[in-house]
Amino acid sequence: NLTNRLSRVVKTLRGQARLTEENTQEMLREVRLALLEADVALPVVREFVARVKEKALGEEVISSLTPGQALVGIVHKELTALMGGDLGLEAGELSLAAQPPAVILMAGLQGAGKTTTTGKLARWLSEGSHTQHGRKTGKKKVLVVSADVYRPAAIEQLKTVAGQVGVDFLPSDASQKPETIATQALDHAKRHHYDVLIVDTAGRLGVDEAMMREIRALHDLLSPIETLFVVDAMQGQDAVNVARAFSEALPLTGVVMTKLDGDARGGAALSVRHVTGKPLKFVGVSEKLDGLQPFHPDRMAQRVLGMGDILSLVEQAQQSIDVEDAAKLAKKLKSGDKFDLNDFRDQLGQVKKLGDMGSLLEKLPAQFAQAAGQLQGGQAEKQLRRTEGILNSMTPQERAKPELLKASRKRRIAAGAGVPVQEVNRLLSQFEQMQGMMKQMKKGGMAKMMRAMGG
Ligand code: GDP
Ligand code: MG
Repeated sequence: NLTNRLSRVVKTLRGQARLTEENTQEMLREVRLALLEADVALPVVREFVARVKEKALGEEVISSLTPGQALVGIVHKELTALMGGDLGLEAGELSLAAQPPAVILMAGLQGAGKTTTTGKLARWLSEGSHTQHGRKTGKKKVLVVSADVYRPAAIEQLKTVAGQVGVDFLPSDASQKPETIATQALDHAKRHHYDVLIVDTAGRLGVDEAMMREIRALHDLLSPIETLFVVDAMQGQDAVNVARAFSEALPLTGVVMTKLDGDARGGAALSVRHVTGKPLKFVGVSEKLDGLQPFHPDRMAQRVLGMGDILSLVEQAQQSIDVEDAAKLAKKLKSGDKFDLNDFRDQLGQVKKLGDMGSLLEKLPAQFAQAAGQLQGGQAEKQLRRTEGILNSMTPQERAKPELLKASRKRRIAAGAGVPVQEVNRLLSQFEQMQGMMKQMKKGGMAKMMRAMGG
């Protein structure tokens, strides 16, 4: 997955403060491969990678992140946006703001999961436990009907499903025309004051003109407020062509991606979103009728890239590091001002804000954690606390002018911090080394400092 792929190249990029044409090239190649492996269609991958590259170039890298981690952050953000994160829609939102009955038309290939999803949506709506624009909606009175007159037992299947979720099922007959079934169902739903009518339809094994004509005719008759394209996540690359055909034939309003409980990486979600331009609204995660979830762009992005933990690290770092403080320090260093123990203490505070060091290190890719040297969990934290104790035992003047620290002052500080004098000496010599290092660095250089402290 991408985490593994990136860790390999991340190693060579430590200490670089920004993403450049050169240092992103190899990583972008890995991103490209990861997306292809996740079954995202090639043209979509190309366009996406170009977009990430544009965003990445020149981006300042927060000093505690490697450029590799920073790039993962950008990839995730862009992927989330592309998957609908920027649509401002609530996950799992359906538009039902119509003169009742609000009609939902289900479209998709045979076996995609239309009938199952019809049952799941009926359950979702009739239970009324979902939200709409941040408000809980009431229970809906739902009617389902099947216009699938081709497959033996298709109508019977919907009847069973409706029974299982406890919604009304309007019987139809395989000898009827689908249009007739639709007209009758709409009429029935109006007369009996249903809030929602869900119309299940037939699918074919492949895209064909007869099917498209039929579903278009149903659409014209029903004027649905939602026309949902149901697609099987396991379809992978093929999903693109199917999605394009349906999207050209019908004014889709949204997509439901089924069978995400399988091992599909979910790349199809990206392709389908790209091709249709329509939001993914739900995902199917089980053949059971409660296996429906609102679609979360960020979770899907994570699934596609398989980058779980590295992301929480990126987020944690972005939240904790005070970017302005880091910038101030960088400016100070550039201007040639002296880096003193007060600055050191500030930086230490920043490191501490990153939270528990042990869990932080667990989140780093293996190679990076190795590079962090002896900084192992509890040990690192203990060291950090001792260092801080020493610094806090100094007066501000002493921290500003470490050269004031002669033997007697050192003894006082050691006693105050409850450490041997040697430890104060070690801290001071480490600090001197770091001062030298700081001179060479334009930015904070958190990673290097962490290493220096462990050593
Ligand atoms: P249709 O031909 O489009 O109506 O598809 P069906 O609703 O009959 O579903 C086809 C098969 O996929 C059935 O065996 C369903 O149980 C299964 N299925 C549908 N949705 C999901 C899902 O989200 N997860 C899993 N594992 N199976 C599903
Ligand atoms: Mg069906």
